[in-house]
Formats: sequence, C-alpha cells, structure tokens
Amino acid sequence: LLITYTVRARVFRPLERLSRRMKDFLVDRYSFQFSHPDASELGELQRTFNSLAQRVINTMDELKSLNQAKSEFLNIASHELRTPLTSIKGSLSLIGSGVMGEINPSCARLVKIAETETDRLIRLINDLLDLAKIEAGKLPLAHAWHSWDGIVSKTVEGLHGLAHEAEVQIKADPVPGLEVFVDHDRIQQVLTNLISNAIKFSPQGSWVHITAEITDYGVLLVKVKDQGPGIAPEDCEKVFQRFRQVNTPQPGHILLKGTGLGLPIAKALVAEHGGEIGVESELGKGSVFWFTLPQWR
Ligand code: ADP
Repeated sequence: LLITYTVRARVFRPLERLSRRMKDFLVDRYSFQFSHPDASELGELQRTFNSLAQRVINTMDELKSLNQAKSEFLNIASHELRTPLTSIKGSLSLIGSGVMGEINPSCARLVKIAETETDRLIRLINDLLDLAKIEAGKLPLAHAWHSWDGIVSKTVEGLHGLAHEAEVQIKADPVPGLEVFVDHDRIQQVLTNLISNAIKFSPQGSWVHITAEITDYGVLLVKVKDQGPGIAPEDCEKVFQRFRQVNTPQPGHILLKGTGLGLPIAKALVAEHGGEIGVESELGKGSVFWFTLPQWR
C-alpha cells in the first residue's frame, strides 16, 4: 500500500497536473501559477514548464497587441488616403470628359493615365482595408443559405464587360438545387477575383470554365479553369502570399496592373468560411484555381 501510494503521489499526480496544464495551454486557457512541488525531478520539470509557458504567453500577448496596432494603423491610414483619392479621381474624370473645356489629345492621354493609376491606388487601399479587417477579426460575415447557381450567375454577369473586352468566353456548369451557407458578397468577391484573374491571363478567343461538385470528403469543390500561361509548380504556393505576382498579363490588357492582394484576400475569406483554396497548374497548360466550402445542401 505504501509503495502504491508513494508511486501515485510522486509520479502520476504531478504528471496528471502537468498534462492538464499542457492541454489548457493548447487551448489558450493556461492559468499560470506555481504550485510547490516536491524537490523531485518531476517538480523541477513542472517548474521549468511553468516558466516556459509564461514566457510564451507573454510573447503571444505582445504579438497580439502589435498586430492589433498594425491593423488599426492600416485602417486609419487607408481611410485617410481613400477620401482624397476619390476626389482626385472625380476631378480627373471631369477634366477627361471635356466638361471643363476642351483639352488636347496628349493632355487627354496623360489625364487617362492619371485616372487609371488613381483607380489602382483606390483598389489597393480597399484591398489593404479588407485584409486588415479580416486579420483583426473585424469582418462580420452574414451567413445565410444561397443558391449556388445564383451566386455564380451574378458574378459572371458582373464580369461580362471584362470578358467581352478581353474576348474570353466564360462557361459555368449549373448545379440546380445546390445551396451554400455563406456570406453571399464575400464568396462573390472570391469568385470575382479568381474569374477576373483567369480572364486577365487568358489569350483572346479562349474560355474560362467554372464547375462545382461534391467531393468524397463531403465538401463542395469549386474550380475555375483557364487556358492561360499556367504557373510554375514552385510558384503555386507563392501566389497566395501578399504582393506576389509571378505572371504579367499580355501588354495592353485592360486589367494590366493588379494589386497582388486578390489571392491573399480570397484565401482569408475562404478560410473564414471553413474552406481551403489552392491552384493546380503547369507552365503552358493553363491553371485550375479551386476552393472548398464545407456547408452545402
Ligand atoms: P493580382 O491579380 O492583383 O496581381 P492576385 O493576388 O490576384 O493579384 O494574383 C497574384 C498573382 O498570381 C498574379 O499577379 C499572377 O502572377 C498570378 N496569377 C493569378 N491568377 C492567375 C491565372 N489564372 N493564371 C496565371 N497566373 C495567375
């Protein structure tokens, strides 16, 4: 009895305590406190673990508040930039339209360039704001059941002008009756990004194909395929990182300059919906961008 008691008290109890703390720590619930373990090896182990845990927790707190400060800074800076840029854009388009008086062709060309660049800056700021909001967990998602075909047709409708100008055809396979539990506008934003990228990098006369199917794992798998230049295998991960651009659209293309933030935003939004995103591609063989959505019926 004495041996059993000693073994339990000296070995199993401290181990149990340690393992309970480790589990708490894993779920961010670690309450730091020194117990006064006996001067055994286990006691020493527990003390070391306690101080290590405290150090990690302090670093995590510091990182969290730095991240919060960064998001707040981005938010304020973006708002301050967006307002004047919107008024610059308004003025430029008034000048460009000739309402303020005739301007000569070379002047009109310069105004057009300034307008395009202002547009790009506004897009960049909107993208930065979106990303900052998602990271700060301040992007409220309005989940509801929506028809999948409805989301796709609305997205394709919005990109019709772009596809027409680029002479690229968009094909979408309907999935009648399928509904997804998502934030409609945010999933439309993801689809818009993938389809507009596909259009941007596609040669004239080619097609972009959108499909949706339920996989063996029980999730909805959406694919956007194109016949563009493709992406080298070593770049497939990189395109989801901020400001990474591995291909440039054909010169003179309507969507010449992107922000390099579209895919990181799409990735964050898909993750907010509990899904995953990726790309399968080979140079010269087009790309298949895909994402999954777990909630469908
Ligand atoms: P942006 O399109 O604004 O540059 P994204 O984050 O949407 O930024 O895309 C990042 C990069 O990934 C693009 O600049 C391009 O190099 C590559 N990319 C994205 N989609 C495609 C595609 N369909 N075909 C080839 N390259 C692509």
